[in-house]
Amino acid sequence: MSNIIAIVGRPNVGKSTLFNRLTESRKAIVDDFSGVTRDRHYGVGEWTDKQFTVIDTGGYVSGSDDVFEAAIREQVLIAIEEASVVLFMVDVTVGVTDLDDEIAKVLRRSKKPVFVVSNKVDNTALHNETGVFYSFGLGEVHAVSSMTGSGTGDLLDEVIKHFEDEPEEENTLPKITIAGRPNVGKSSLINALIGKERNIVTDVAGTTRDSIKIHYNQFGHEFTLIDTAGLRKKTKVKENIEFYSVMRTIKALEEADVVVLMIDAVEGIESQDINIFHLAEKNKKGVVILVNKWDLIEKNTKTMKVFEDEIRERIKPFTDVPIIFTSVLNKQRIFKAIEEALEVYKNRGKKIPTSKLNDVMLPLIEAYPPPALKGKHIKIKYITQINGTSPMFAFFCNLPQYIKDPYKRFLENKLRDNFNFSGAPIQIFFRQK
Ligand code: GDP
Ligand code: GDP
Repeated sequence: MSNIIAIVGRPNVGKSTLFNRLTESRKAIVDDFSGVTRDRHYGVGEWTDKQFTVIDTGGYVSGSDDVFEAAIREQVLIAIEEASVVLFMVDVTVGVTDLDDEIAKVLRRSKKPVFVVSNKVDNTALHNETGVFYSFGLGEVHAVSSMTGSGTGDLLDEVIKHFEDEPEEENTLPKITIAGRPNVGKSSLINALIGKERNIVTDVAGTTRDSIKIHYNQFGHEFTLIDTAGLRKKTKVKENIEFYSVMRTIKALEEADVVVLMIDAVEGIESQDINIFHLAEKNKKGVVILVNKWDLIEKNTKTMKVFEDEIRERIKPFTDVPIIFTSVLNKQRIFKAIEEALEVYKNRGKKIPTSKLNDVMLPLIEAYPPPALKGKHIKIKYITQINGTSPMFAFFCNLPQYIKDPYKRFLENKLRDNFNFSGAPIQIFFRQK
């Protein structure tokens, strides 16, 4: 399942303002821990229980005017190809510009749903001005004010109708995707695993291709590899290479159970790596981190520990993740990497019987109960694991709203200490009982 909303449009129409609005409610829920640098370009949003990824294409193009128009046109093509829904944003206070018309021309060829979004409709007087945008020939015009939020709910109601439903699983093999910045060694790893050179560049512009799924069945391990590395497009615009790879990564990640995030040992962990990590975490995917090109690092007895500590510091608070040091070049630890990924898959699907959960957790809770608030004692009575694709636990208690984040983290740590959930994000809910 993959629900990606791409916002396209010329600069200054309000794309990033809408992006912030679509992702902010989610942010309040998920990113309420400190130290998270948010990515401006893509984020997770939610509307009436449907989760989606929003991409602000505007984050990708900068540079001189001559490359600019070509870049935007190409971006729109990529968005049409990769997103589930395209929002074409225009500015009601400006009306139709040449560049708007150019973009509309490209969008009219789209087979994907396109929504014309007339932004900056801050009052009813401006509402009357939106009629000009019917000239694009792209159907209904949706009036919104990204600044105030007006109209955005109605827009989302329409948009989510175009999302794909969760497909019936045709096979139940673990799905693993290998993600990471360009040049970290993703293709090399896949080639090492499947033992043959793939055709790594496709230059067919405008053709739709799903991520390639490779059935792996060797040495007693069977799983599906979702390959993004092998699909690279030739593009004349540097910024779009990143845009394209991000789109691919998001799609592959949404389809996967476990994300193997490759980091370049020489360059160290960078903000883009952390963005992919958080995206996996927010999507409740299993994660394994590979520090690749380990052969290029001059080592002493402490080097590995220093690297590991630094990475764990940067990925806080979800630090219970396997970190493996590989050299794909020397075929060092690549099978260990796969074994860890499969282990994480198991951990993510693990079900703890209720009796065992209570036997282990209740005494720990009794020894260190939630701090009383406003003179009221909080009592956790019992715990169950909720059915789902990733570990979720309900703690039943008298005053669920009084339990604060530090205590929630305490409970998560105790769950992790006592049952192995390495690499799997855990969700904890407090329910009234
Ligand atoms: P982008 O370049 O398309 O990402 O545009 P931005 O989101 O950066 O917005 C460009 C400018 O328009 C900023 O000054 C925003 O504050 C302003 N803006 C965005 N949405 C609205 C809106 O709904 N109403 C008004 N009045 N201004 C807006
Ligand atoms: P991708 O863009 O992530 O698919 O990266 P590639 O697999 O194309 O690798 C990029 C470059 O890094 C190639 O020149 C590889 O030969 C090299 N490379 C990959 N893994 C290793 C490694 O473990 N050690 C070293 N020294 N080079 C590597």
